[in-house]
Amino acid sequence: MRLQRTLKNPVSVQGIGLHSGNKVSMKVNPAKPGTGLLFRRTDLPGRPEVGATLHNVISCSHATTIGTQHFHISTIEHLMAAFAGLGIDNATIEIDGPEVPAMDGSAAIFVFLFQDAGIQVQGSPRRFMEVIRPLSIGDGDKKVTFLPHSSFHIEFSIDFPHPVIKAQRFKAEITEKTFAKRIARARTFGFLKEVEMLHKNGLALGASLENAVVIGEDSVLNQDGLRFSDEFVRHKVLDIIGDLYLLGAPLRAKVIARKSGHALHCRAIKRLMEAGSYAWRYADSPIEAATISRWHRELTPAGAGAAV
Ligand SMILES: [Zn+2]
Repeated sequence: MRLQRTLKNPVSVQGIGLHSGNKVSMKVNPAKPGTGLLFRRTDLPGRPEVGATLHNVISCSHATTIGTQHFHISTIEHLMAAFAGLGIDNATIEIDGPEVPAMDGSAAIFVFLFQDAGIQVQGSPRRFMEVIRPLSIGDGDKKVTFLPHSSFHIEFSIDFPHPVIKAQRFKAEITEKTFAKRIARARTFGFLKEVEMLHKNGLALGASLENAVVIGEDSVLNQDGLRFSDEFVRHKVLDIIGDLYLLGAPLRAKVIARKSGHALHCRAIKRLMEAGSYAWRYADSPIEAATISRWHRELTPAGAGAAV
């Protein structure tokens, strides 16, 4: 049986928000079992709190934003990916502004700080969300599919009509090790020609070569180039790991994503949640091999289940 985990010690960081450009301080504290990931705005009267769950998502365009009618916290996805990747269930995140600091545009600094602070195993079992029937949701040529699987596996493909990116595909079993080594360091990216339009819409105001891979006509403008030759698709994997953690429990499934972004990720997890016991169940111990074989036997070729 896997147990819940939190940090051993608090961690503090300062940085600027990718979209707002505002300076922000953030402190991540250990929390009791069952707390989940609870964000608190320390700059507002009453220090309001909001849990990082699907129910509290208020926007999924460009970045993932949670909140209520009265306040919000945006661009939580890379921090969420760090929690998911390291298997951290419980923490309170105190933040004195409306956006999580961008750091270097990846999850690497969060991962480094969390590993440095230490991870505390707690006394309560960890509850997994186990997919038992295939489910997929699409939007044009974008698609996210959930399949039954004995662990958490992601397969992501992108195809940008740009010579620097083109078609890229990445697949991996997501463990603490693969996440830290192969995914956490992949940075967010954007096209130079879109900067003006983003700025007009109040987006990417804090973006720079320090916290994003910037793509010009036919090359990457960052002096040191890319961290991985397929850094773009790896960053998409990082994003979906963060978004999937809004389910409120770690997933046990194979997730196949094609060209999807935050908006479709949010719709996909909403659809999965709504499918309820048809598509998934909670489990706190590993699945037995016999159960997995039974699932595979039950999956007819047309067994696209609730494919949409
Ligand atoms: Zn991202």
